[in-house]
Amino acid sequence: MNLCDIKTVKQIMSMFHLTFRKEFGQNFLTDRSVVQDIADACCEDENSTILEIGPGIGTLTYELALRHKNVIALEIDRGLIPVLDYTLGEFENVTVHNEDVMQADLESLLASAFAEGKVSVCANLPYYITSPILMKLLESGLPFDYITVMIQKEVADRLCSPAGGKDYGAITAVLAYYGEAERLFNVPADRFVPAPKVDSAVIRIRLYRERPYAPKDEELLFRTIKAAFAQRRKTLSNALSAGFSELSKEEITTILSDCGFEASVRGERLSIADFVTLSNKIFEILPQ
Ligand code: SAM
Repeated sequence: MNLCDIKTVKQIMSMFHLTFRKEFGQNFLTDRSVVQDIADACCEDENSTILEIGPGIGTLTYELALRHKNVIALEIDRGLIPVLDYTLGEFENVTVHNEDVMQADLESLLASAFAEGKVSVCANLPYYITSPILMKLLESGLPFDYITVMIQKEVADRLCSPAGGKDYGAITAVLAYYGEAERLFNVPADRFVPAPKVDSAVIRIRLYRERPYAPKDEELLFRTIKAAFAQRRKTLSNALSAGFSELSKEEITTILSDCGFEASVRGERLSIADFVTLSNKIFEILPQ
């Protein structure tokens, strides 16, 4: 069975009386070499467990199961569960759960996988919920090795942008706190059925095992990043005034000069290391 063949995909869907569900971002991959490249790239250690989000009809899951020790897949669409039994029945190393990843208790689900070895994430993510899924994975604190995801090209530009780049945003800085994002390759829209309106790209995030940054208060770090980007066209000084009403204009000027930043600097020039320095200075001055 060739799960990358458009005719086969449509036959399987009609055999199970299913339609492609737009509300779940169902655009299934139909280019075998792309699927294989993602499965190859998603981790180096074949003894790893792979968490796949949204297996669809099992196209990527199939290639992951051939390469890695175990695959745990979470699929929100109940209608696809019998399809996955059908397409992946030959694999003993695949477990499929009918679950919404946003509701899933990932810690319990992956406890034995982490006890046995490394765990990486691999997914062709549904576009409607890319950032919340990535934030859930990063904020979970679970020690994933790599997170490899296919996402909308524009979101990949944002996540992989250097500080000061035109696509650099709050989520870029937050991601850089957890690990290093690398863009692997682009995938045109015509490699999916149905074809989405936008092109895609595959990125791989290598999570830090030991984070190189030590904020005095993690929540304050995220609040500082949010404040800096909330007022994008303003100077950092004005953006911080709006985001930290507890601080006076003079205190903000002192904080910026103590950090060695020009008074006219804008938030989008700051790297994650700069944001850590800045939030640590704010921490010293903020009333506790
Ligand atoms: N992996 C398949 C492929 O590459 O062809 C399908 C990818 S498709 C872009 C996204 C998949 O994620 C769909 O199967 C969809 O039903 C599933 N999905 C959408 N939202 C989800 C959620 N919150 N939790 C788990 N799966 C979800």
